[in-house]
Amino acid sequence: MLNIVLFGPPGSGKGTQSNLLLEKYKLEHISTGDILRKEIACKTDLGLKAKDLIDKGLLVPDELIIQLIEGQLTKETDSNGFLFDGFPRTIEQARILEDLLLKLNTSLTCMLSLEVDEEELMRRLLERAQIQGRSDDTPEVILARFKEYTHKTFPIIDFYKNRDGFFAINGKGELQKIFETLVELIDSVVEKSA
Ligand code: AMP
Repeated sequence: MLNIVLFGPPGSGKGTQSNLLLEKYKLEHISTGDILRKEIACKTDLGLKAKDLIDKGLLVPDELIIQLIEGQLTKETDSNGFLFDGFPRTIEQARILEDLLLKLNTSLTCMLSLEVDEEELMRRLLERAQIQGRSDDTPEVILARFKEYTHKTFPIIDFYKNRDGFFAINGKGELQKIFETLVELIDSVVEKSA
């Protein structure tokens, strides 16, 4: 199986690059943000709990995220593996992911970390707000999301960075070029382990 974590701050291009990677490698997309937005749209208990936090730019508690992820990973699928986008976002989630993959007799192939400075992230997110109108793409909420990222999410790099398969990539520039870099890195890991 090919299991990839696409990592990076809000606005770093995870969603865009995910779409390109999914098509190339035929993976199952696990975007916790998308799953949460569906839960909110369906007004489920979990969605109602998550909405307040998301609208404030805060992370949803690990217990809720783990419930969502377990359901997704145990579904029958004919894909070649999983592409995690926006998950894990805390050290606890990173640990849980390892355990879940182990239970499925597999492991993480690589972790690709997209690096973009805050000024550019803010510019992109405000631009996206004009197009998509996401309720958490306002300047105040974006700043709260950056804060959560810095305190809770960025530290998980330490969990991965000394392992094989961790790569930091400059996320600024032409998206096709970034995609090609990601593909080269993924293919190099796959080749090495073949
Ligand atoms: P995203 O679409 O990935 O930017 O996620 C939107 C919002 O959903 C985030 O700002 C968080 O409030 C929440 N969220 C998404 N994924 C997670 C996660 N793995 N852990 C905690 N909260 C999450």
